[in-house]
Amino acid sequence: MSSKLFDRVALIGIGLIGSSLARALRRDSPQTQIVACARRPETLAAVRRLAIADETTDDPAEAVRGADLVVVATPISAYAEICRRIGPALEPGAILSDVGSVKEAAIRDLRPHIPPGVAFVPGHPVAGTEHSGPDSGFAELFRDRWCILIPLPETPPEALARVAEMWERAGMRLVTMDAAHHDRVLAVTSHLPHLIAYTIVGTATDLEDSLKSEVIKFSAGGFRDFTRIAASDPVMWRDIFLNNREAVLEMLQRFSEDLTALQRAIRWGEGDKLEELFTRTRAVRRSVIEAKQA
Ligand code: NAP
Repeated sequence: MSSKLFDRVALIGIGLIGSSLARALRRDSPQTQIVACARRPETLAAVRRLAIADETTDDPAEAVRGADLVVVATPISAYAEICRRIGPALEPGAILSDVGSVKEAAIRDLRPHIPPGVAFVPGHPVAGTEHSGPDSGFAELFRDRWCILIPLPETPPEALARVAEMWERAGMRLVTMDAAHHDRVLAVTSHLPHLIAYTIVGTATDLEDSLKSEVIKFSAGGFRDFTRIAASDPVMWRDIFLNNREAVLEMLQRFSEDLTALQRAIRWGEGDKLEELFTRTRAVRRSVIEAKQA
């Protein structure tokens, strides 16, 4: 498992995902040189302290020089500017990939700046926590999770295969799909649940003070699980909702209709309807556990 996958990998953005990938590469391909790029000196100092990269820089163009793989791992709002800066410095024969949670927007922002001779392999490792920054990363983050790669008409199959192998070595299961499909699937499995968590926690914190303290005290009743999701990075999630607007609004519309139906069932005492839904959803939980995604 220790054969070298790439000579030099540039990670543009070295937070939870970038630093987890750096750690996985250190383990799975120890001879690969890793260059980490971030904006803030404290982030780069943390990377040096953690010893998860061979070089650090705040200049994305410098980071990608000589790299045969470049992975963009910043919030999506930074993509267009980063790619504008790295475009001219990308080496012919290099692969450009990313880990962004919305794929149509990622492709829209990265593609125009990619020079001929550079392969583009958009990707999304569907693995995460509510934490951010290089200290929060860990190599095992990706184990048994799905990685979605988006082959474009211009993506060379061998570039796709090399990026797939990197994620497979990190323990991921690979699947390919088109960007629009990815964005609709993730809208319902990830984006909508986050929006609901942000809403519930927001509603609870807007309550009058006497109730608010009870909310924290009795949070084990269910609220606690929402607070974990609602602790996710505000910038990353702002970008996800702004960049996956159509799909999120479509899923939100369906959700609102279902919520109204439940409201009605409660109002009219239709216990059978409630029980029927809760029985179906309990089976979904069992499927998630069986698929080792719990
Ligand atoms: P994170 O922990 O907040 O790290 C973001 C990194 O990007 C930091 O190194 C940050 O550097 C850098 N950065 C931010 N803005 C930048 C800019 N304008 N120019 C250059 N660098 C910039 O974020 P993350 O959770 O790893 O997420 C990164 C990407 O992965 C996002 O696109 C997200 O959609 C995707 N993703 C996240 C998860 C998840 O659960 N977290 C899962 C799958 C995919 P500084 O520290 O210097 O600001």
